[in-house]
Amino acid sequence: MIATAARLGRIKPSPTIAVTNLARELKAAGKDVIGLGAGEPDFDTPDHIKEAAIKAIRDGDTKYTAVDGTPALKAAICRKFDRENGLTYTPDQITVGTGGKQVIYNALMATLDPGDEVIVPAPYWVSYPDMVLLAGGEPVFVTCPEQTGFKLRPEDLEAAITPKTKWLIFNSPSNPTGAAYTESELKAICEVLVRHPQVAILTDDMYEHLVYDGFRFTTPAQVAPELYDRTLTMNGVSKAYCMTGWRIGYAGGPKSLIKAIGVIQSQSTSNPSSISQAAAVAALDGPMDFMAKNNEAFVHRRNLVADALDATPGLRCPRPEGAFYVYPSCAGVIGKRTPEGKVIETSEDFARYLLEGEGVAVVHGSAFGLDPFFRISYATATEVLEDACARIERACASLV
Ligand code: GLU
Repeated sequence: MIATAARLGRIKPSPTIAVTNLARELKAAGKDVIGLGAGEPDFDTPDHIKEAAIKAIRDGDTKYTAVDGTPALKAAICRKFDRENGLTYTPDQITVGTGGKQVIYNALMATLDPGDEVIVPAPYWVSYPDMVLLAGGEPVFVTCPEQTGFKLRPEDLEAAITPKTKWLIFNSPSNPTGAAYTESELKAICEVLVRHPQVAILTDDMYEHLVYDGFRFTTPAQVAPELYDRTLTMNGVSKAYCMTGWRIGYAGGPKSLIKAIGVIQSQSTSNPSSISQAAAVAALDGPMDFMAKNNEAFVHRRNLVADALDATPGLRCPRPEGAFYVYPSCAGVIGKRTPEGKVIETSEDFARYLLEGEGVAVVHGSAFGLDPFFRISYATATEVLEDACARIERACASLV
């Protein structure tokens, strides 16, 4: 037997990936399962992006590239930040990784010393705290309750900051709640950060383009230029361009940090796939009209799911501003008994009941640090969502 390292004891496997894998396995075994666990668009990658990848293969773009991104992709990312966010970065301020996940991981590995604190607003994306722990830091959770739309209150942020605070991890629109900060809400958060120069901001803007009802996305370095020098603006092509499997994430930030991230990457994975990088150039420089079409479908699905779940006895479901998640409360089913006589004590019990009883895979709220809730990804066909909501309703109606 090969014993594992102590650091492994500090973390757990990613619950979003665990639920996604479980749903996939059950389906492969012939079970009637609807997977609402995976956070990825069901739409296919647009053709012009696929063609760019095929061309890259044909042209022999199949060798190692610069560790933290090709000059062509870095230039396209600079243009993107300028065009869409009003942010000026030079190529030496850009890093490209194998998904946003690697960029965040590398940034934390490159900057955290034992005892450094990282503020993580809860509910949070499942991987933030574990990445902080792997890097030797301490996550400090700040609860963002349902009553504030799951958004961080400036006074709660202020109270959580200590001399040891190294980062705030900020995510809007949010995974898992879909909550997105308006410009004035974001400015209020930034005003607090301006007062604490030891705190850097890691903003995860992955869901930037997935906003609805005329919502206008903004990012910290854009609304508070004073924070530009201590902000890592992270983004990627996964969600907006339907490219989750291609694994391209990127960030713009201070040169010294970008260089440090490159050092970590040079000793771990080296460059992200050369083919995927060529595809990402085509994505960022190419037409964006398909996004409006996708968003039309997403908003319709959001309304369908939120309305159906909100009308389900025992559940309560707000309509968030963005992403493709809803985060309903299941407080009303806690303490109830399933037809098999099991008491639902936690969101995890409820998620298990939905999967075992009705074949609906969702992610329990405790994975995201705020309970009793659960996350539904509505990035799936309308008929499937209607079926899933009917099953959830039936499951809730069977509880006594
Ligand atoms: N970000 C997606 C999710 O939350 C993908 C899975 C993961 O990496 O967590 O489901």
